[in-house]
This record gives sequence, C-alpha cells and structure tokens, in this order.
Amino acid sequence: MLSRHAHRHAHQVLRSIPGLRVTSTYRTPAHNARVGGVPASLHTRRRAVDLAGTFSQQHAAVLLARRLGAVEAINEGDHAHLAW
Ligand SMILES: [Zn+2]
Repeated sequence: MLSRHAHRHAHQVLRSIPGLRVTSTYRTPAHNARVGGVPASLHTRRRAVDLAGTFSQQHAAVLLARRLGAVEAINEGDHAHLAW
C-alpha cells in the first residue's frame, strides 16, 4: 500500500504508459533488507513504486514521473524506481 500521493501519481504513470506492471510498492524494513534495498529506502515509507516493462516504457515512466514531481525517478534496467 502506497501513500495517497504516491498512489495517485503511480496511477497516472500506469494509465499513460500501457504495458508497465507494478513489481514492488510498500516494503517492511525487514523485507527491504532481504531484497537488498538501501536502509532509508522510500519503499519503507510508502512513497516508492517499481514498475517493470520494456526499457523504453521504463524510460518514459521516468520522464513522466519527473514531470509529476517525483523525488526519485531512476531506470534501474529491469524496472523503473519512482518515488513521491
Ligand atoms: Zn524501487
């Protein structure tokens, strides 16, 4: 479950770029550590979402997320990490 703010923007990205799928949202600190997330990851604060698709879909998601005020928007290769 994401914060309402992050949720709203994640939906805008998903609506605008068909084909992306959500691969991670909220993580408990323990889960975050198991998957190798950085300790202060915004996933543990309900602010980050990972979206996977083709590289170009992920790139488009990063650009749109930045326009939507994302504080983190990174194409990680196998997913785009976006946070608000
Ligand atoms: Zn992420």
